[in-house]
Formats: sequence, structure tokens, C-alpha cells
Amino acid sequence: MVEKQWIGHPCFDEKAKHTFSRVHLPVAPKCNIQCNFCDRQYDCVNESRPGVTSVILSPGQALVYFDKVMGRVPNISVMGIAGPGDPMANPVETLETLSLVRNKYPDILLCLATNGLMLPQYVDQLARLKTSHVTVTVNAVDPDIGSKIYAWVRDGKHILRGREAAELLLSRQIEGIKLLKSKGITVKINFILIPGINDKHGSEVAKMVRSLGADIFNCMPLIPASGSAFGELTPPSAEMVKTVRAMAGEHIAQMTHCARCRADAVGLIGQGLDELSLKDLKCCSKLPLHPRDSRPYVAVATLEGFLVNQHLGRAEEFYIYDKIDTGFELKGSRKSPPTGIGDERWKLMAEILNDCRVVLVSAAGGKPVEFLKKSGIEVIEMEGLIEQGLEHVFNGASLPGKRMIKGCSCGQGSQASSSSVATACASKSCGAGSGGCGGNGMGCL
Ligand code: SF4
Ligand code: SF4
Repeated sequence: MVEKQWIGHPCFDEKAKHTFSRVHLPVAPKCNIQCNFCDRQYDCVNESRPGVTSVILSPGQALVYFDKVMGRVPNISVMGIAGPGDPMANPVETLETLSLVRNKYPDILLCLATNGLMLPQYVDQLARLKTSHVTVTVNAVDPDIGSKIYAWVRDGKHILRGREAAELLLSRQIEGIKLLKSKGITVKINFILIPGINDKHGSEVAKMVRSLGADIFNCMPLIPASGSAFGELTPPSAEMVKTVRAMAGEHIAQMTHCARCRADAVGLIGQGLDELSLKDLKCCSKLPLHPRDSRPYVAVATLEGFLVNQHLGRAEEFYIYDKIDTGFELKGSRKSPPTGIGDERWKLMAEILNDCRVVLVSAAGGKPVEFLKKSGIEVIEMEGLIEQGLEHVFNGASLPGKRMIKGCSCGQGSQASSSSVATACASKSCGAGSGGCGGNGMGCL
């Protein structure tokens, strides 16, 4: 029998999958753990399939995009946040997006998928926003098995590894699931079936999560992502999946129609991203971070007016550009606020650039990036010609050279563009040893 609150949710109510659609809003690029089956160039494997990079939207851009999709795609019943990283590793963006959508669409079902590490501290807020469905990925309830699945877990500034990491993650998942159930939120458990690692463990996981009150269990066969630690593993056979589902099914209801949706999926389950939605997504990613702001210009930190080659913290002036029919027009330059005045500098900078949607720089520290972002200005780090940066911001062209990644523990990277998932951290200096980037130079998103 279908539970009342599942009706209309295509992932929880199998009958609804042919009638009701869902939209994923890709607002959560960062992650706080490293699963050995995940290559962070791609979407979170815990909820989606690997191999497709997504555009990232700010919450304001996401609402504009959602409005467009609601006007075009019939029968949307759910808005979900499923990455491409972990929604709770991006709590500000996630909660703001849920809130914007909830305020405008009081009847929409809100849903998200998380690894659970930061879940407990946000359950109250999720409940206040009337989030009705949460998916938690639990791949092991035995820390020894978990230690084979997770390379590291980042708790605040601490990087944990091995059994310690798996224990912490599991304890947060347990606490999070209990709290969700105490708020009456429907909980789905995703379980990535990894041959030779947790293929004998599905039943135990199912039993434990059911005892915590979870409602439904989704056994997902591993898709080995090349570049990940488990990239060379053989995916489980259909027989193995069937056996694990049957054993887990003795404890908890099974979901068998999961289509491993992308972090930017739209439409019925099984549908990815149609051409119109992709176009809308790209268009919205070019809007100002807060789309209602009037921000026509782009500021550039440059020494001579050809290259983007100044650090945000050292820039003495910014060149201001506009888009015109024939290309780009230099509107003039503006003096940067003086150095040595602490955070006041970033406040003044936000005021000086209050009609700019983006500032192009060669590098920037994390604090000013966050400060300017809150004021609606995106900081993009790049190397190359100013023209190439302007083409990127105004016309969506890809950027040459390195792109640093927000949250990178080595401290050299500081931001990911809201307009694209950064490809790879060019620096390997943090390494698994000190920064926990998995040792593959992929950064710490
Ligand atoms: Fe990748 Fe993080 Fe998702 Fe694990 S939780 S699959 S590391 S994005
Ligand atoms: Fe929610 Fe996952 Fe379904 Fe998306 S695919 S609507 S996140 S359960």
C-alpha cells in the first residue's frame, strides 16, 4: 500500500512515476566526504549517475529556472536537490533554494538527497521549510566496511580517515534519520551495492535503517566511475542486485524503479535533461547571482588592460566592461578601496562594484570571495585574455587555463563558478596527506 505522503512523488510512489515529474536544482557543488566510487568532476553518485557535469546555479538563479520549468513541463510535483555535491555541504545555498521555492510554491513537495554527515544540524530547518522527503545514502553500518568505501570525511576543519571516518559518518546518519523521522519526514535510504565490499551487507543495513524508522530502501548497483578508486571494479550482476534486494526486502520496502537521475534532471523519472531545459539552465546560470539585481557589468582585475592578471587582494583598480551588439565595451575604471582596513575593504569593494555581476581575477582568498558573493558579486579566477573571460560571463564560452575550486583545502583555490562545475584543481599541493583531496588533484569540492 502506498503511504499517503508518497502519493505524487514519482520516486516513492511507483505508480506516480508515469504521471508526476520532478525537477532537480543544481545548487550544491561542494562535498564533505570522498566516496571511493566518486569522481568529483561529475555529479554525486549517491543520487545520480556519473559521467555528466552540470551547470551550477545560485539560489536566485535556480528560482528563475524553476519558474521557467514550471511554466513548461507538466505535472511537476517535486523539487529535489541532489548535488552535484552534497546539499548539506552547501547548507546556505540549499536552505535558501528550498525557502525560495517553498515561498512561491506552497504545495510543491520538497526533497533532497544527502550523505548524512551534516544532516542532524539542519533537520529542524528542513522541517520548518516543510521538506517532506529526504534520501540518506548509507552504504555500510559496519565501520570496518565503511572504511573501505570512504577515503576521508571532513568534519569542519578536521579530515578523518579509515574506521574513524566511517564511524563518524555512520553516527551522523543514524542521528539524522532518527531526527527526520521525529519530524514526520519520509526517508529513503540509498545503498550503493559494491561487489566484494558490501554485497553481503545489504540485509544488515536494511535492518538497521528500518529500526531507525526509514521508509524505503533503494539498492543501486555500483557504476564504476573511471578515475575513482573503485573505477576498475566490475559492476554487480543483475542476479546479485536481485538477491540483495530480496534480502533487504525482508526488512524494508524496496524501490526498484530508480533511474539514477542527474543533479539537473527534469521531467518524469528516467528523463534526463531535454534541450529546452538545458538552454534555460545555461541562460539562468548567466544571470546575476541575485537575478533581481540590476548588474549589467563585469569588473576585471588587470595590470595593463589585456590580461586578467591581478589578485583580488592586490588589485588597485578594476576595469569595467559592458556587453554591446558588436562585442564588449570598456566603460571606464574604478579605484579599489585601500588595503589594511580589514573586512571594511570588501564591504567598500562590494559598494564600488554594486552594478557588476562578476569580477574576473587571477586569484582570490576565500573570505573576500564569500563576502562579495553575499553581496551578489561572483568572483571568477582565471588566467588568460580579458576577452576570453568576458566571452565566458556574457556568452557562456568555456574558460582557458586553470580554474580553482572553492573550498580547496590547499588554500590556493577559492571558488567554483556558479556558471559551470570547475574541472580540476590545477594544484596537487594539498594532496590526500594534508588537504584530503583524494590525492588525485581533483580539489576538494
Ligand atoms: Fe561524491 Fe560526495 Fe556524493 Fe560521495 S557524497 S558520491 S564523494 S559527491
Ligand atoms: Fe528526490 Fe532523489 Fe527523486 Fe530527486 S531523484 S526527487 S532527490 S528521491
